[in-house]
Amino acid sequence: MDDSFGRNIHYLRISLTDRCNFRCVYCMPADMQFAPQSHLLQDEELLRLVRIATTVGFDRVRLTGGEPTVRPNLVNLVAGIASIPGIREIAMTTNAMRLEKLAEPLARAGLNRVNISIDTLDAERFYKITRFGKLEQVWRGIQAAERAGLNPIKLNAVVVRGYNEDDIVDLARLTLDHAWDMRFIEIMPLGSIAEFQMDSVVPVAEMKLRIESALGALESVDWDGHNPARPFRLHGGRGTLGFISSVTEPFCAGCDRMRLSADGRLRLCLLRDNEVDLLSSLRAGASDEDLQKFMAQGIMDKPWGHGLAEHVIAESRVMSQIGG
Ligand code: SAM
Repeated sequence: MDDSFGRNIHYLRISLTDRCNFRCVYCMPADMQFAPQSHLLQDEELLRLVRIATTVGFDRVRLTGGEPTVRPNLVNLVAGIASIPGIREIAMTTNAMRLEKLAEPLARAGLNRVNISIDTLDAERFYKITRFGKLEQVWRGIQAAERAGLNPIKLNAVVVRGYNEDDIVDLARLTLDHAWDMRFIEIMPLGSIAEFQMDSVVPVAEMKLRIESALGALESVDWDGHNPARPFRLHGGRGTLGFISSVTEPFCAGCDRMRLSADGRLRLCLLRDNEVDLLSSLRAGASDEDLQKFMAQGIMDKPWGHGLAEHVIAESRVMSQIGG
C-alpha cells in the first residue's frame, strides 16, 4: 500500500522482545528496565497481526529486538510466520550470541537471512561497547549462520566516537576475504540517552575517509536504490561495504518500512514518536477488519521523515524498545 507521499510501504520490522543479553552503550541505558511479559505480544497475537499486515501489503519482515534470539519458542514462531501466505522474505537482526545453536533450526523453520551486529574485532573493546558481549561467541555465530545458508550475511557496526571509530578499517578489511556486506551506521539519537548519542556521531564522510586512507579508493557497486546503504567494494574484495547516513544524509524519501514493537505498537517512523496501539485494540476485541483499518490508517499517517535537522528527537523509547 502507498502512503500519502506515494511511497510503497511493504516492509515490517517486528521486535520480538525488548529484552537483550547485551546492553550496548549506543542502544540503551546501563540500568534498562524491561516490560513485563504480559505487556508484550504473545505468539498467537503476533501471528494474527502479521497475517493482517499482509492484507495491507506487507510482504517482507525482519525480526529484531531487544535480542530476537532470547524470545522463547523462537523457532516455532519463525515457522508460523513463514507459513503465512504473502510473506516472501523473513530476515533477522541479531547480535549472534545464540546463533551457533540456533542458525540451523531457524534456517529450517524458514528464516532467509541475518544481519549481525559487530562493532569491533577487538574482544576487550567489544565487551566495553556491549557491556556483556563475547566476541568469540559472536564470531562462531557468524560462521554458523553462513553454514546454515542464511546468506547474504550482513554485518552492522554502529560507529561511536571514542569507542570504535579506529576499528572500522579492520572491519572493512573483512570484506577482502569474505563475501559479507559490512555496513557502518551513524549513531542515531533516541530517548533518555539521546544527548550521549548526539555527541558520539561519526559522520559517514569521516568513516569513508578513514577506510580509503588505509585501504584505497572505494569502488561503486550496482545499487537497487531501496537498500538504505549504497554499496561499495574495496579493490579485489569479495564482499561489499555500505554506509547508513541517517543523521548526516537522511534517506526518508525511499523509506518503505514500518515497525511493530514488542508491546504491539505500530511505529510509523523510527525517529518519531507517532504510534498506533494495536495490542490494546486487539485485546479489547477488535476484529481483523478493524485491525486492518488501523494499520492502513497508520500507513496513511506515516510522517514524511525524521526531524533531526530541526532538532526533533523522539523521546518515548530507546532503540532496544523499537528494534532499529
Ligand atoms: N540485538 C540485535 C542486534 O544487536 O542486532 C537487534 C536489535 S538492535 C536494536 C538492531 C540494530 O540497531 C543493530 O544493528 C544495532 O547496532 C542498531 N542500533 C542500536 N542502537 C542504535 C543507534 N543509537 N543508532 C543506530 N543504530 C543503532
